[in-house]
Amino acid sequence: MPQLSADTLLALDRAHVWHPYGPMPGTVTPYVVESASGVRLRLAEPVADGRRELVDGMSSWWAAIHGYRHPVLDAAVREQLGRMSHVMFGGLTHEPAVRLAARLVEITPEPLQHVFLADSGSVAVEVAMKMCLQYWQSTGRPEKRRLLTWRGGYHGDTFHPMSVCDPDGGMHHLWGGVLPGQLFAPQPPAGFDAPLDPEYASLFEGLMERHADELAAVIVEPVVQGAGGMQFHSPAYLRMLRELCDRYGVLLVFDEIATGFGRSGALFAADHAGVSPDVMCLGKALTGGYLTLAAALCTGEIADGVSRGEMPVLAHGPTFMGNPLACAAANASLDLLLGQDWAVEVKRIEAGLSEGLAAASDVPGVRDVRVRGAIGVVQLDHPVDVPAATEAAAREGVWLRPFRDLVYTMPPYVTQDEDVARIAAAVTAAAVAG
Ligand SMILES: *Cc1c(COP(=O)(O)O)cnc(C)c1O
Repeated sequence: MPQLSADTLLALDRAHVWHPYGPMPGTVTPYVVESASGVRLRLAEPVADGRRELVDGMSSWWAAIHGYRHPVLDAAVREQLGRMSHVMFGGLTHEPAVRLAARLVEITPEPLQHVFLADSGSVAVEVAMKMCLQYWQSTGRPEKRRLLTWRGGYHGDTFHPMSVCDPDGGMHHLWGGVLPGQLFAPQPPAGFDAPLDPEYASLFEGLMERHADELAAVIVEPVVQGAGGMQFHSPAYLRMLRELCDRYGVLLVFDEIATGFGRSGALFAADHAGVSPDVMCLGKALTGGYLTLAAALCTGEIADGVSRGEMPVLAHGPTFMGNPLACAAANASLDLLLGQDWAVEVKRIEAGLSEGLAAASDVPGVRDVRVRGAIGVVQLDHPVDVPAATEAAAREGVWLRPFRDLVYTMPPYVTQDEDVARIAAAVTAAAVAG
């Protein structure tokens, strides 16, 4: 039984607890979740016309791909809890972490051979950047330390990842003189099926050619730009990046923290293009949404380069690195994912969202409707009224969390057709209300 009444809990929450991108004290009352099971969140108090259960349209930000309280994941974490919940990773190792690392190497593109386990996505991006900068330092090119990305990206909230987030969306003007100055290309042309625009390619090549001497790496989110604006682009741009990076001696980092583990219709978005980056970041769905864990994978060449340096180690080591509980959850989540025809489930959700959102393009104020894999997006021509849109979705029995001009969903892969239809209806209702 909960120890606090919902009213007390909300009063303490408002007085003391920061929420993501929130003011202090809080101004909007969050829903109190009591428990969650399958694709449903159980609320402590009724909301919007007396509903106490909402279908989760967000997978807790891309993470809970198998839904909540999955018996296999629960059992894996319990079993691990019976052995140890944590031990330090310096000088010690354990099966959950080793199995996970070997598995990640096996399922990601071939050249990626080495795994650094981090405790959040932002830290994995930090580590990826450190790998690249240290590689160039070790190989006698310390001046190669800037990063190039395209606009519209999101790579996390710590400072170096922030420096490659979209400069407008990431509010770089607040951080003048604090963020390292990176290079930005325009956003890639929209559309998964759009052909490569040769003008864009030559513009990008021009940037690389001019800056090759100072560039350590290009970092992008492949195929789906997530929190930077939910835009999709063609895999052809990933092949373009691979070619240009090879031509100009620049490393390539794919941030697959949102796209990894099937979300975009391929196990990794890089697979749509058949290219491998030099470094890949994973997170979010890695543990099926159970615990915080992320990873940065790199090629043998990067690891060798780092080892040849004056400081022949990768200088990073989080306290909770390789946490056994998180690794056990990740191993079980991968067993579940790869033990089924996940691509069929993602396609099924893609079809359900496409059908269910088709009518949303006729809603006044809707600028664009797009679906890719198990991701559905309705973009408005104005900023969303978040409280009104959230309540409209809740009235349809669905949890959504719109932002900026976007009402969007990425449901758990276990969401059944009826609930996918309900989610699509809720996205549409939220777009009408927002
Ligand atoms: C969420 C996200 C991150 C940051 O991950 P955290 O675990 O929130 O630190 C980085 N890159 C991408 C593409 C993301 O979607």
